Amino acid sequence: MSDDTDTGMVYLVGSGPGDPSLLTVKAKELLDTADVVLHDKLPGPAIIESIPESKREDVGKRAGGERTPQEYTNDRLVELAKAGRTVVRLKGGDPFVFGRGGEEMEHLATAGVPFEVVPGITSAIGGPGVAGIPVTHREHASSVSFVTGHEDPTKDESAIDWEALAATGGTIVVLMGVGKLPAYTAELQDAGMDPETPIALIEQATRPSMQVAVGTLDTAVDIRDEVGIEPPAITVIGEVATTRERVCQWIDQTQHHHFEQIETQDQS
Ligand code: SAH
Repeated sequence: MSDDTDTGMVYLVGSGPGDPSLLTVKAKELLDTADVVLHDKLPGPAIIESIPESKREDVGKRAGGERTPQEYTNDRLVELAKAGRTVVRLKGGDPFVFGRGGEEMEHLATAGVPFEVVPGITSAIGGPGVAGIPVTHREHASSVSFVTGHEDPTKDESAIDWEALAATGGTIVVLMGVGKLPAYTAELQDAGMDPETPIALIEQATRPSMQVAVGTLDTAVDIRDEVGIEPPAITVIGEVATTRERVCQWIDQTQHHHFEQIETQDQS
């Protein structure tokens, strides 16, 4: 039982890309012991449904498709902690990669609520990884940039300098980049990037419904539509995307095995 006079604790926890066995040991322990888990949809059904419904609070999209305001989530975290609860704020991937974890942490600090950060495997690295694509490679890319394809619509100008990114010669990993794919693949080509530059799109990485599509900067939009890639998906741009075809045989075998395991778990 929690003592209401004592402030509780908030854990900002990354869930990894969706396969429950990729939760960290600490994340799993906290999900088992926390009083309340605030989450959105990104951790995915396998992880969310493993948490008892009585301690789940969905702070993602509300009925009608509207996003829960960030202020609500911030205030709810403080309110629960001040009532003595142990709270997990569960976020897909890593809490600090395009996840607003930074904002929430600052809010907790300002409110005087104790918190701890529990990193997770980000889909930006692990997503390409399970598809057989290393984000860096000694022969292909010695740098990697992580960018959002979906910027704050209230910003007047794009904060992303695609021309500068093209000039790095390294890998570009785009998150939230399914809808805006036509815009940024065009910008990169305008910036002088070779239209033959390899691209891979990885949807639902590490989940049973994972899909991968491979093409070039020039064909990216066509392959997205042909394969039917939908969010959540990662876009990888750069030579590293060709690694997949050299290891595909092994990757597909492993994934098959892995999906069977998940299905077996679901039945139990
Ligand atoms: N904090 C998260 C990213 C949040 S932004 C992380 O570290 O992974 C949301 C975006 O993450 C999605 O639009 C998509 O681009 C990416 N994403 C998250 N999980 C994914 C998954 N399992 N497969 C592919 N992309 C994923």
